[in-house]
Amino acid sequence: MSPREKIADLKKRARKIVTGLRKRYRGATTALNFSTPHELLVATVLAAQCTDKKVNEVTAKLFRKYRSPEDFAKARRSTLERMIKPTGFFRNKANSIISLSKAIVEKHGGKVPDKLERLVELPGVGRKTANVVLAAAFNKPGIVVDTHMIRVANRLGLTREKDPVKIEFDLMKILPRRVWGEFSFMVTLHGREICKARKPLCHLCDIESYCPSSELKGKRRG
Ligand code: SF4
Repeated sequence: MSPREKIADLKKRARKIVTGLRKRYRGATTALNFSTPHELLVATVLAAQCTDKKVNEVTAKLFRKYRSPEDFAKARRSTLERMIKPTGFFRNKANSIISLSKAIVEKHGGKVPDKLERLVELPGVGRKTANVVLAAAFNKPGIVVDTHMIRVANRLGLTREKDPVKIEFDLMKILPRRVWGEFSFMVTLHGREICKARKPLCHLCDIESYCPSSELKGKRRG
């Protein structure tokens, strides 16, 4: 997004970036294990400030004990807290999980809503969590702006914003709806493995030629 890059050119570049990311990450989705939208909602709440690997270890047992939104809504707080403790911030997370499960039972007949506006009304559910659930559980368009997306989208010049919601809206303008979810999950993997926070591995990057921040560009000029 250089000052002179027109929106049409930006859209073209964004599509090439999607194609480039697919070389390594085609069909990427969340690394969180789940078998129902509600399980993904719970896993995503637990994933705040925690690794997906740790969350998957915890939910392997958790989802055997609590099998439905009703089970979570009726959960004994102390038991739930003990089970999710390894994911950190367990008191807040237990609160959110019980409250959102009650809301799903009481207001949505036990079914997780599949609309962003309804999802973000649930206690403890922000746009990031809602978009993960939309994209990965319902296969609906949703752009997930996590720490990797903030960094990578800025390096790629797809946005100049730091605020997650503004980034989401910038990306919505330049990417086709059908790729929103896949793009999000591919960027998360790309950010973890290649476009790392401290030292991006530009020499291994499949989208290097579309990236204004590539460290190789300066070297080529030099
Ligand atoms: S070229 Fe470098 S900075 Fe740009 S996306 Fe690839 S790894 Fe990140």
